[in-house]
Amino acid sequence: MKQSSFVFLFFTLIVTACAPVEKADLLIHNATIYVVDSSFSTAEAMVIKDGKIIMTGKLADLEKKYEAKEKIDAQGKFIYPGFIDAHAHFVGYGSGLQTADLVGTNSWNEIIEKLKTFSAQNKEGWLIGRGWDQNDWTTKDFPSNEELNELFPDRPVLLSRIDGHAAIANQKALEIAGIKAGYTLTGGDAEVKNGKLTGILIDNAIDIVSSKVPSPTNQQFQKSLIDAQRNCFAMGLTTIDDCGLSFEAVERIKVMQANGELKMRLYIMLSDAKANFDYLEKNGAIKTDRLNVRGFKVYGDGALGSRGACLLDPYSDKPGSHGFLLSSPEHFDSVANWISQRDFQMCTHAIGDSGNRTILKTYAKYLKGKNNLRWRIEHAQVIHKNDFNLFGENSIIPSVQPTHATSDMYWAGDRLGHERVKSAYAFKQLLEQNGWLPLGTDFPVEDISPFKTFYAAVVRKDAKGWPEGGYQTENALTREQALRGMTIWAARSNFEENEKGSLEPGKFADFIILDKDLVKTNDAGLLQINVLKTFVGGEKVYEKLP
Ligand SMILES: [Zn+2]
Repeated sequence: MKQSSFVFLFFTLIVTACAPVEKADLLIHNATIYVVDSSFSTAEAMVIKDGKIIMTGKLADLEKKYEAKEKIDAQGKFIYPGFIDAHAHFVGYGSGLQTADLVGTNSWNEIIEKLKTFSAQNKEGWLIGRGWDQNDWTTKDFPSNEELNELFPDRPVLLSRIDGHAAIANQKALEIAGIKAGYTLTGGDAEVKNGKLTGILIDNAIDIVSSKVPSPTNQQFQKSLIDAQRNCFAMGLTTIDDCGLSFEAVERIKVMQANGELKMRLYIMLSDAKANFDYLEKNGAIKTDRLNVRGFKVYGDGALGSRGACLLDPYSDKPGSHGFLLSSPEHFDSVANWISQRDFQMCTHAIGDSGNRTILKTYAKYLKGKNNLRWRIEHAQVIHKNDFNLFGENSIIPSVQPTHATSDMYWAGDRLGHERVKSAYAFKQLLEQNGWLPLGTDFPVEDISPFKTFYAAVVRKDAKGWPEGGYQTENALTREQALRGMTIWAARSNFEENEKGSLEPGKFADFIILDKDLVKTNDAGLLQINVLKTFVGGEKVYEKLP
C-alpha cells in the first residue's frame, strides 16, 4: 500500500469512528410503525427532533446517526400517524359536552327524566340538549312539547335531534324567538298540529331559536374546547376539520393555541355568512402549525333522517316530498363565483341526489375540468348513478363519513327505496373518482371514535355485527384505503399532505401508539383496539392509564 493511500484510509477511519452523532429529542423503537407513505411501508424505529420526524427505519441505523434525549421502548406495539377527522364539529362537540346528552335515549320519557336531572344540576339559563333520534323509539313519530311547557314554563328549552336538522323547543323558547303558529320561512318549518305549535322545528327554523341562545362566555368557551380536546386525544385524533365556524370562534381559538392551552391542530371552514367572507377577504387565509383557515362551509340541503335532504324523485316513504335546498341555486352560484376568484376552498354539505347534482354542476361551472383546488362536497351521500363522473371530471373531492352508512342503514332503504339506495354511501365508487377519499365522522352527530369510522368503512356493520354479511359491501374500503382516508388523504383534503398524514421525515411528529394492529386485527377485534399514547408535534398529549 502506498503511503498516501494509507494516510487516506487512516483519516477515513478516524472520521467515521468519530462522526458526530446528531442530537435528537426522542427515539421510539421496538414497534411496528405504519409510515403510510406511497409504498405503505413499515419501520421498527423512529427519531424525532423539534417536533418533527427526522428518520424512520431500523433501530441500528438510527442509533448510528442519532443520540436521543429520551428513548421509548414501544414493547412491540403499533404506531400510526395521528388520525385526522376530515369532517367534524369540534367546537360544537365541546359545547355539547356542557349540555344534556340525549344520544341513545330510547323514548321521549327518558329524555324528560334526563332533563329533570340535568336542570337540577345546571340551574341557570337555557336548557340545551342534543342527540335524540325518534327512529330509536317504539313510537317513531316526532314528540310534541306539552310536558316541556309544564315542567319548564319560564326556562327556555331547545333539544336537537342527532343530525341537527330537527329540534324540539318549548313554548318559552318559541316565544323568545318570536315563532307563532303559522310562521313561515324558507328552508325550514315550525310544525303545527290542530292549530298549535308542537315545538318541532326543521332546519332554518332551528336557527331562528338557537340564535337567541346567549353565546358562551370566554371561560365557558375555553372549558368546552379543553374538554373536547381531552376526549379527542384519547381517541388518537391529532387534527380535526371543524366544518362551519364563525370568525369570532376562530379569533378565540387563535388565542388559546397561542398560549399553549389548545394543542389540537384544527382545519377550520368558516360558515357561509357575509361577516366570515369579509373576515377572510380582509385578513387572507390563516396558516400556522396548528391552525389553517382557507375554506368555507356552505349548506346545500338537509339530512336524510328528517327528510330534509333534497332528492330528484320524491321520498319513497313520503310521496310528494322531495326535501329542499337550504338556499337558492343562485346563492350557491354566487358563492362559487366569489371563491373561484380567490385562493379559498369551497366545501358544501350535500346529501340528497338533487342536492349533490346542484352543487356538482355549480362547482363544475367554475372548476372547468381537472384542477388542484380541492373543492369538497361534504357527505356526498346519495349520488345519482349518472353523476358520479362529475367528481372525477372536475377533481371534486367527496368528503364522507362511514359511520353515517351504518347509522342510517336501518331506514335509508325506506327513505330511498330499493334501487336508489344502491348509490348511497358509495364510498368505493367515490374513491375511484379521484383515487383518494378523505374520511371523517361528523361528530357529535356520530361518536368521535375513529375506530368506528375504520370499522364502518371496511366491515360495514354496526357494533353488534349486523347485518351478518355487511351493508352494501360492494362499497367497502380496504384497510389500507381506510387508514389513508383517516390520515394522508384527510391531510390532502386540507392541503396539508406535506406536513402531516404520514410519518415521513420532515413531517410533524403527530402519531399514536395502539395496543393492536389496525391493519391486521380481525374484524371483530377492531372496536376493541385501545390508544395507548398520543403525540402532537413530538409532545405526549395522552397516555392511557394502566
Ligand atoms: Zn357536519
